[in-house]
Amino acid sequence: MTYQVTVIGGGPSGLMAAIAAAEQGVQTLLIDKGKKLGTKLAISGGGRCNVTNRLPEEEVIKHIPGNGKFLYSPFSVFNNYDIIDFFEGLGVALKEEDHGRMFPVSNKAKDVVHALLNRMKELNIEVRTETPVEAIHYGEDEHQVILKSKEKITTRSLILAVGGKAVPHTGSTGDGYAWAKKAGHTITDLFPTEVPLLSNDSFIKNKTLQGLSLRDVDVSVLNEKGKKIVTHRMDMLFTHFGLSGPAVLRCSQFVVKEFMKGRKLVTIEIDALPNQKENELLEQLQKSIKDHAKKTFRNVIKGIVPERLLDFVLEKAEISPEEKSANISNEKLRSFTQMLKNFHVHIHGSQPLEKAFVTGGGVSIKEIVPNTMQSKLMERLYFCGEILDIHGYTGGYNITSAMVTGRVAGMHAAWEAMA
Ligand SMILES: Cc1cc2nc3c(=O)[nH]c(=O)nc-3n(C[C@H](O)[C@H](O)[C@H](O)COP(=O)(O)OP(=O)(O)OC[C@H]3O[C@@H](n4cnc5c(N)ncnc54)[C@H](O)[C@@H]3O)c2cc1C
Repeated sequence: MTYQVTVIGGGPSGLMAAIAAAEQGVQTLLIDKGKKLGTKLAISGGGRCNVTNRLPEEEVIKHIPGNGKFLYSPFSVFNNYDIIDFFEGLGVALKEEDHGRMFPVSNKAKDVVHALLNRMKELNIEVRTETPVEAIHYGEDEHQVILKSKEKITTRSLILAVGGKAVPHTGSTGDGYAWAKKAGHTITDLFPTEVPLLSNDSFIKNKTLQGLSLRDVDVSVLNEKGKKIVTHRMDMLFTHFGLSGPAVLRCSQFVVKEFMKGRKLVTIEIDALPNQKENELLEQLQKSIKDHAKKTFRNVIKGIVPERLLDFVLEKAEISPEEKSANISNEKLRSFTQMLKNFHVHIHGSQPLEKAFVTGGGVSIKEIVPNTMQSKLMERLYFCGEILDIHGYTGGYNITSAMVTGRVAGMHAAWEAMA
């Protein structure tokens, strides 16, 4: 028997691709090596699934720094608002949180997975789980999928939706890159993105600030000359190994790229008070000192930043907690202010790709037709999701990219199979 469309991979991209293909009325098969489908989707967003983002399309694309512009074309067919309508149509009510992030009202990622699986059932999509694919043989009229069991499946159109290499226990073990290479595709360098960063700075090693989170701070990556490569204003977290939290995750790919250029140490700069210029802060502190000369400096400025950070910076600036305001020299005040505005952390690495949220790099988008997701090198071969060299920030952008590319791949794979 020959299937018209076969999808390998039951993540968000593969599930959406299979649905889109079957909606065109073609015989569709979905294969996954896992026991269940949508394993990564079910743990996404801390188990709540940040399924997409409500920001305008232009903004969504900006938040996908890894080749987001490639998505303009697929977005003209199916975009973030269509994802919202799609799930609401399947009975999954969504709600908006900060930064446009969309979650199921139930706060359950499983509801998103179940809605997709129910739709697959309605469309009579054949599903084979616990079925690892080992190899692909490409043919002129048909392609053959070789299972680990050595069984061969013949299909007119083939969609590769096996994801990247991040968090491999969910099934994403990078199997698809070899199959893409066999079809002649280029795989750009793989690297971890949206990944916590490692530091050997003494205050990190001593766990001085471990567990402290800072709200709405500016986190910047500095180049070798000390210039800012990128800045993100969001929350961040000091951990026992270095830095994490949304702002750091967003900066992480820029740090990793610096390492890929050969740098051994990259500086992250934290501005704990980004709404105030350094000279304004200095003037404000000078005034406070004058107004409260007899009080301790620590008491006068308490509340300016979280207490643990305050005590740490006071110690670094060699200001004792008992020091009276009147005794604070201008030089000490300046160095205290500077540390609040330009706090430096030296990064020597990131957690590995396996621990990253997202894989950077993948099947080169130069070899993919953007409005169909078809390979430019092989007839009726399609790619979608994280296997592609497309990566976004956390915030619903990666699932959006997976579902949008999956939708387009599924539709076109079906049309070509019927042609
Ligand atoms: C912890 C975590 C939380 C995340 N949270 C979010 C979030 O809230 N919002 C967001 O936008 N993004 C989030 N992401 C990223 C997002 O989940 C992924 O980008 C997305 O799942 C990629 O979808 P995909 O369909 O391309 O691949 P995957 O979801 O990785 O699915 C690939 C599938 O292919 C199957 N497969 C692989 N090899 C084979 C083979 N040889 N044979 C058969 N089947 C195979 C796997 O079993 C797997 O089911 C998160 C990532 C992680 C790790």
